[in-house]
Amino acid sequence: MTVDMNAAKATLLEERAKLVHQMDELGANENGDLRPDLDFGEGFADAAAITAERTEVMGLANVLKEQLESVDEALGRIETGSYGTCSNCGKNIGAARLKIRPMANMCIECKTAAS
Ligand SMILES: [Zn+2]
Repeated sequence: MTVDMNAAKATLLEERAKLVHQMDELGANENGDLRPDLDFGEGFADAAAITAERTEVMGLANVLKEQLESVDEALGRIETGSYGTCSNCGKNIGAARLKIRPMANMCIECKTAAS
């Protein structure tokens, strides 16, 4: 079973569009920064609640941004031809794993050892 690069690329681009959309809905740009015009004022009783909300949104935006970076990295690896190769041990990651985790840059053994 070989890795279908076109399918992988399509999945990654789809994932990328989804992430950008989620960030946009959150009020963040692709860098994970919140739009300056974002209004947290409505519906909140006090400044502490606004700060808490803002912190939570920024946390979410950061998670999405990290996922976006993984997607971009994976797309970059497709371009350079290193996609599907474990960044740690150099073995094939495996088409089955990449189907489930298209952003994976490590084989399951290395990933398990690293976490
Ligand atoms: Zn490995």
